[in-house]
Amino acid sequence: MAAPITGKVLLVDDSQQARLAIKDALRDTFSIFVEADDGLSAIKAFVEEKPGFIITDIEMPSINGYRFISTIRNMEEGRDVPIIMLSGTKNSLKKKLTGFNLGASDFLIKPFDSEELLARVKSLLRMRNLMDELKEKNALLEKLAVTDELTGLHNRRHFFEALREQLALGLRHNFKLACLLLDIDFFKKINDTCGHMAGDDVLRKIGALLASCKREGELLARFGGEEFIICLFNTDSENAILAADRFRNLIKSYSFSSSFYPATHITLSIGLAIYPQGAVISIDELIKAADSALYRSKTEGRDRVTLYEWAPSSTGNQS
Ligand SMILES: [Mg+2]
Repeated sequence: MAAPITGKVLLVDDSQQARLAIKDALRDTFSIFVEADDGLSAIKAFVEEKPGFIITDIEMPSINGYRFISTIRNMEEGRDVPIIMLSGTKNSLKKKLTGFNLGASDFLIKPFDSEELLARVKSLLRMRNLMDELKEKNALLEKLAVTDELTGLHNRRHFFEALREQLALGLRHNFKLACLLLDIDFFKKINDTCGHMAGDDVLRKIGALLASCKREGELLARFGGEEFIICLFNTDSENAILAADRFRNLIKSYSFSSSFYPATHITLSIGLAIYPQGAVISIDELIKAADSALYRSKTEGRDRVTLYEWAPSSTGNQS
């Protein structure tokens, strides 16, 4: 079976003959061979050509293989590139150990057996591929951990993490933030009369509408059930009310329809709280305050925005 072609390799050796021998051995494995005859031009070639694999001699004029390897390993983009070291010195345990300590992936003595070089290259490529797959899977898991599956918005967990980060920054900058808790009015009725597919469709659409209306830097997440949460940074209560009405009117004016339910209009009740304000000096207090304002929006007729106003007599536990 023919070996797969796997992109670009950088060959570093002051002997052209040695580079030719490597190319011959790896002709079927790599599609592009970039060559350099000393460490300095090899660093330049690495930066410009971004090879996915390096084979380097140790004994070279000016910058030798050791310094070349340690330079590559100190670069962000050079941390994971497989590097095979070559040395023309027999009995080179000390060289081997130095090379491995600097970050080489493997070591061969010249003149090398071409089948052995090929086998070592393939083994390193296999490891590299497994590592890439693992990285991709980890990135996916990280994304899933902070994403709400139904709406594709950030989830509650990400919301708290991001807000904590912002607050930590804000403590130094003395800023204000506004927290909007948005709840779909009569959502239970949609689920009960049209089914959960209809409810899910409404949640997805509202999520997308809120995301489209959200501005750069504003934090939006599905908070749970039929609740969404939005944080506006460096915003006073007047501007926060304007923003909350912007979200409320967007949903109110949208005509919801799908194969699961007839065309319908939906409204939001919104509770709004500002941080810091009175006893509202923690994230928990902020959300509790927004929740109690949301409760007032519900009891006073829904489809409205209520601003939480802290009074010294307030117990902070009004919901
Ligand atoms: Mg040499």
